[in-house]
Amino acid sequence: MSKPLSPLMNRQVLLVSRPQGAVAPDNFKQVETPLPPLGEGQFRVRNHFLSLDPYMRGRMNDGKSYAAPQPLNEVMIGGTVGEVVESRHPRFTPGTQVIGHFGWQEWGTSDGTGVQAVPNPQVPLSAWLGAAGMPGVTAWYGLNRIIAPQSGQTVVVSAASGAVGSVVGQLAKRAGCRAVGIAGGAEKCRYVVETLGFDACVDYKAGHLQQDLKAATPEGIDGHFENVGGEVLDAVLSQMNAFGRIALCGMIAGYDGQPVPLRQPALILTQRLKLEGFIVTEHLDLWPQAQTLLAELIVQKQLHYRESVVQGLENAPEALIGLLKGQNFGKQLVRLI
Ligand code: NDP
Repeated sequence: MSKPLSPLMNRQVLLVSRPQGAVAPDNFKQVETPLPPLGEGQFRVRNHFLSLDPYMRGRMNDGKSYAAPQPLNEVMIGGTVGEVVESRHPRFTPGTQVIGHFGWQEWGTSDGTGVQAVPNPQVPLSAWLGAAGMPGVTAWYGLNRIIAPQSGQTVVVSAASGAVGSVVGQLAKRAGCRAVGIAGGAEKCRYVVETLGFDACVDYKAGHLQQDLKAATPEGIDGHFENVGGEVLDAVLSQMNAFGRIALCGMIAGYDGQPVPLRQPALILTQRLKLEGFIVTEHLDLWPQAQTLLAELIVQKQLHYRESVVQGLENAPEALIGLLKGQNFGKQLVRLI
C-alpha cells in the first residue's frame, strides 16, 4: 500500500507576544494554515514528537543573547523527529525517519537543509530529542571537554533527573567517578540513584542543601556540571576542591528574569577553579562522535533515560510552562500523532 499523502491543512503554534516574567498560555496562538504544494527537491515530514527545552524561554525574549530571538507571529522553534510521507527529493524518500527543527507544528516541509536521517534505527525515535540528541550531546561535551573527569574523582550535576543531567551522571560513572546528583524532591532523587545508578542524590527542596551536599561529597567536588544557578551553584562552590572544573551549561533558576547572584565568587579564585560556559550548537563537529557513543549505549541498555510526554500540539504551551517550573520528570516531549 502506498504511503498516505499529507492533508491540506497544518496545525501550528505561533509565538504572539513576549513573556513578562513567567511564560503564559496567551503568549501563544494556535492556527491552521494550508500546506504549500511540494516543490522540486522538497519533501514533507509528519512530525511524531516535538522537543520542549529550557533554551526556548531565552529565545522568547527580545534581548541580546547567543542566538537571535524567536520572531513574533511565526511558528515557535523546536527540535522534532518524524517520518517523510511525501517526497520530491532523491535521498529523503517516504518512510525515512528524520531529525529536524520543524518547530511547533504537525507537518514540516524541507529541501533537506538541517535535516538528518536517523543514524541508528535501533534507537527509539524520541530518544534523538533526548539522550541520543541535543541534551545527550550537551552532557557529553560539558563532561568530557570541560570537566574532563578522572577515575576516582567526584562529579556533581544539578537538575540530575532531567534530559541533560541524567546523562552527565551516567557518563561520569562510566568514567569511574563518584556521581552525585542534585534534584528537586524525593521521587526524583530516588530515581537518580536507583535507576540511573548515581552514588547519591541531594534533594535541594528538603531545606538543608549545604549540609546534605557536604555529606554526599565527603572528599569534596572535583567536577561540577551546572544546570540551575543561584543557591545550587553557591552550595557547590563551597564544596569544590582546589583546581576543580565547572561546566556552566544552564542557569534555569534565572530564566524568567530572577536574580541568580553568587554569594561567594571569591571561592573561584581561592580554590583556583576553572569555570567555563558553553553552547552545544557551537560544537557541531563533535556531535557525530558523541551521538554514536550515546546511541550505542542506549541500544545496549547501558544508558537509561526517562520521558515526560504530553499528547497533542495544543498542550505544548502548558507543557513548556511546566518544564520551566520543574514539573517535568525526564525529557519533556509532545507527541504529535
Ligand atoms: P531538564 O529536563 O533538566 O528540565 C529542567 C529541570 O530543571 C527541571 O525539571 C527542574 O528539576 C530543574 N530546575 C532546577 N531549578 C529550577 C527552577 N528554579 N526552575 C525550574 N526548573 C528548575 O532540562 P534539560 O536537561 O533540557 O536542561 C537542563 C539545563 O541545561 C537547562 O539549564 C538548559 O538551559 C541547559 N542546556 C544548555 C545547553 C547548552 O548548550 N549550554 C544545551 C541544552 C540544555 P528539579 O525538579 O530537579 O529542580
